[in-house]
Amino acid sequence: MSNPDVMDKLVSLCKRRGFIFQSSEIYGGTGSVWDYGPLGVELKKNIKDRWWHAMVRSRDDIEGLDAAILMHPRTWEASGHVAGFVDPLVDCKVCKGRFRADKLEDAKCPQKPSKQPGQHDACALTEARQFNLMFKTHMGALEESASIVYLRPETAQGIFVNFLNVQQSMRQKVPFGIAQIGKAFRNEITPGNFIFRTREFEQMEMQFFVEPGTDMEWFEQWKAMRMQWHLDLGLSRDRLQFHQHRAGELAHYARAAFDVTFDFGGTLGFQEIEGVHNRGDFDLTQHQQYSSKKLEYFDQVNNKRYVPYVIETSVGADRVTLAALVNAYREEAVEGETEGRVVLGLHHALAPIKAAIFPLTKKDGQPEMAHAILNDLRNSFTVDYDETGSIGKRYRRQDEVGTPFCITVDPQSTTDQTVTVRDRDTLAQERVAAGSLKAYLAAKLV
Ligand code: ATP
Repeated sequence: MSNPDVMDKLVSLCKRRGFIFQSSEIYGGTGSVWDYGPLGVELKKNIKDRWWHAMVRSRDDIEGLDAAILMHPRTWEASGHVAGFVDPLVDCKVCKGRFRADKLEDAKCPQKPSKQPGQHDACALTEARQFNLMFKTHMGALEESASIVYLRPETAQGIFVNFLNVQQSMRQKVPFGIAQIGKAFRNEITPGNFIFRTREFEQMEMQFFVEPGTDMEWFEQWKAMRMQWHLDLGLSRDRLQFHQHRAGELAHYARAAFDVTFDFGGTLGFQEIEGVHNRGDFDLTQHQQYSSKKLEYFDQVNNKRYVPYVIETSVGADRVTLAALVNAYREEAVEGETEGRVVLGLHHALAPIKAAIFPLTKKDGQPEMAHAILNDLRNSFTVDYDETGSIGKRYRRQDEVGTPFCITVDPQSTTDQTVTVRDRDTLAQERVAAGSLKAYLAAKLV
């Protein structure tokens, strides 16, 4: 059975609690573009940091890169995006709706009763035409065809064109990889499902350059390592699956491709969050041809030159953020209380706030002691201070944003310098010496 649909509840929680807002909301919003609020930016940053650590900092064979969003327009001719990054599109002459011809069954005609486009007698769909998903703009003062540039629709091409720069400057030997995190833009025709499919999003991509012939072995290794990364983020094993691209689904250049899919629940169900692809030598060969610059690797040991094959892992930071939120959301009854609680059971490493500090009352030196603890912990962890409302309400507020620990200063604290620490998931409370909180949290927040 599919997992429940929690999307509407999440959208409202994310807005109410400062995770994600609609872009330009006061002007009625920008279609399928979202802004990350104070807690959302921490959550997404934690995800990106874990990826960067796993891919770049913890390995000798992958280098980091931050290439520009605007690239030479020839890049997108070489990559195939100018000619081929298109979706088939149909327009309805009656309702003026625009739909993806290959996804009509997922679309809704705005006429009532709600039906698929084309199913009402009055529908008048045009023939499908190809619509390029790249955003176009102009560089410099003149708006002429020679000045056209594109907002990159993927970060990968910045890596391919820098392949030799990175390899030579860092004296890397094949096999090695280049990783980067950055914004990408796609003028999606049917965006939606909150931050699942947006027009501006962030990708975390890594291209691993290998000797031809060793590619399938590396492909299998990366497939397994990437699935493990998602499991290590706390995504449930039963919500994760591989989807293999079969012959008809494979991009023309791909030798093999698997998606990591996550079950978002409800009708959305299992959807791609990451792609692992064996791209062969397609990209480097194309760039060689279009730039007339050699992009070969010289293997000194075996005295041979070749264009490496590429294993690519490409994951959306926003889709993983959404998966982490869906995975973490739960509603539960609390013993002895009429009202239940909403909890974001996020992995500790992802929680935007690691600990919240409360004085039980606003007197008897408790706020002062709580502030001293706050200032002491703030150098090591993201922390929050709250003195308003009942202690139960304050716990609920932190549960709802996934804070793993709540620290309360009570009357006993000011006499014996101990505090209570409450665990988000077990609800267990422990008395801990205020002076050892840093070490206590460091040991628990793994
Ligand atoms: P889809 O089939 O969902 O459009 P795709 O196969 O085009 O995705 P890729 O080009 O392989 O996606 O991009 C790699 C990753 O980038 C995806 O797995 C996804 O996490 C993310 N991504 C792609 N398009 C979007 C988008 N419009 N909004 C948010 N994330 C996206």
